[in-house]
Amino acid sequence: MIATTGKTNLLGLTQPEMEKFFDSIGEKRFRAGQVMKWIHHFGVDDFDAMTNVSKALRDKLKAIAEVRGPEVVSEDISTDGTRKWVVRVASGSCVETVYIPQGKRGTLCVSSQAGCALDCSFCSTGKQGFNSNLTAAEVIGQVWIANKSFGSVPATVDRAITNVVMMGMGEPLLNFDNVIAAMHLMMDDLGYGISKRRVTLSTSGVVPMIDELAKHIDVSLALSLHAPNDELRSQLVPINKKYPLKMLLESCRRYMATLGEKRVLTVEYTMLKDVNDHVDHAREMIELLKDTPCKINLIPFNPFPHSGYERPSNNAIRRFQELLQQAGYNVTVRTTRGEDIDAACGQLVGQVNDRTRRNERHLASIEAVSVQNAAAQP
Ligand code: SAH
Ligand code: SF4
Repeated sequence: MIATTGKTNLLGLTQPEMEKFFDSIGEKRFRAGQVMKWIHHFGVDDFDAMTNVSKALRDKLKAIAEVRGPEVVSEDISTDGTRKWVVRVASGSCVETVYIPQGKRGTLCVSSQAGCALDCSFCSTGKQGFNSNLTAAEVIGQVWIANKSFGSVPATVDRAITNVVMMGMGEPLLNFDNVIAAMHLMMDDLGYGISKRRVTLSTSGVVPMIDELAKHIDVSLALSLHAPNDELRSQLVPINKKYPLKMLLESCRRYMATLGEKRVLTVEYTMLKDVNDHVDHAREMIELLKDTPCKINLIPFNPFPHSGYERPSNNAIRRFQELLQQAGYNVTVRTTRGEDIDAACGQLVGQVNDRTRRNERHLASIEAVSVQNAAAQP
């Protein structure tokens, strides 16, 4: 654990929370806007640099508050321009944040938890087990750190980060309040001013929380589908046993209905060789999604050691894509970025102190397999 200072961290406070904070210390509410602009637009963490705030208030703030992002452990830049930060959070674990430039778009992929308890079979984050939920300051802190590294610019002018996807480590809907607060800050003009269409939450399918989401926010939604039937999906994404496909797609449709007609669900489908990449899977998917307006994003599997899965051939991916396209779907294939710095989807491992001891179990099972393999050698 990293020692805490007992001061209020202003980094993760939404505008109403910041106003409440200033109220509570007997100051005017408009201070909230001033201080938020310093923090988020200009990347400032030193109260003395907030020059439109009186010296007396700056001194008061220094005594009781702080602006503290997660500690940056490393920053790597890939040959393709992708950047990856490893940051240490209060629990002592490390999580990863990835920036992917693509034409006029700059997408930041943000983590919500240190590790993940949901244990999807093809995900290296899941294999690490779960350690902790990130605080709102640690979630928005990743945007703050990335934004600062490009030189902060006011939210009203062109910016490096045009899109944020909650597709880093962790299941965002299982860290609900903190993720909602951070996403409000991403969209707020006093924060990062990113349009609600360009902030996307990705979920493996925590149905009750998808319904809850609609009551709090109107960000874009991505569903990690990965299989066109319950039998296979339950093997790949264990939470499917609790919230099977029919229930899941109904909740996604309900959420999308609250957003209005022009917004569509993104369906993510990680393609695993000889597991979910057959033409029959594509046909099943066409049938499954026929009542759910969506665009489909195929993600070729990104390998990691001992995963037991392989990436399908380009031909298999193209054939799968074409079948879905012929049925009228808008289908993109995600290009793998930042592989040289291990920044691709599913390669984010950080350094998680597993509390579920899954990691040990996982390593033990790998060892068991190696022992069996060694025993099978002639
Ligand atoms: N927990 C959330 C968000 C984080 S995972 C979710 O599951 O949606 C972000 C995306 O990367 C998900 O669609 C996930 O299934 C995918 N992914 C995980 N491991 C992967 C791997 N090894 N290769 C390709 N995609 C992977
Ligand atoms: Fe967790 Fe998402 Fe990985 Fe599944 S794919 S283990 S939900 S991070």
